[in-house]
Amino acid sequence: MTGRTHDLAAFTALSFVAVLHPLSPMSLSTLLLCLLANQIGGIAPDIDQPTAPFWHNIAAGKYAGKLFSALSGGHRFLTHSLLGLVGFAFGVRALLNVLHPIVPSADIGYVWWAFMIGMVSHLIMDSFTREGVPWLLPLPFKFGFPPVRRLRIVTGKKFESIILFPGIVVICAVLYATHYQVIVYFLKHNVS
Ligand SMILES: [Zn+2]
Repeated sequence: MTGRTHDLAAFTALSFVAVLHPLSPMSLSTLLLCLLANQIGGIAPDIDQPTAPFWHNIAAGKYAGKLFSALSGGHRFLTHSLLGLVGFAFGVRALLNVLHPIVPSADIGYVWWAFMIGMVSHLIMDSFTREGVPWLLPLPFKFGFPPVRRLRIVTGKKFESIILFPGIVVICAVLYATHYQVIVYFLKHNVS
């Protein structure tokens, strides 16, 4: 699955959870950090590729990316499993605790959830691709949907760009159109 499909899927998943789950009032910084964390979570599992944009943006990223890829077992291995999800859950929580003093008005609980929703959406989306996802590592099986491999999506090909991506755009648009009033009310009265 391409990065932009993951970005959109993460945002759509976050929007779904946000409208289905009653949210308590939050600061503007919380809302913005949630959007950012969600997008990072949406592509986080792919840092197991040395070519991931993340590695281009940090010092010595080329080498760090290769090292991380090797340590995590290569592409679509540890970071694409429930085990990896738990690892990220603890790691991101610890990182947020460290960063919290920089933005004390942010509710890091919400930010953490936004990241995790993005990451889970990534694993679910990758499950629709031919390669599948090793959800149950260390069990050495990759799972995908539909179970017949040939019926699954090939990353970056026409089905993804012509059907899947526009399809998620429509789902997202319908979600916002049908919950427009609730969302506007929340933004007006509960974000400060
Ligand atoms: Zn992936």
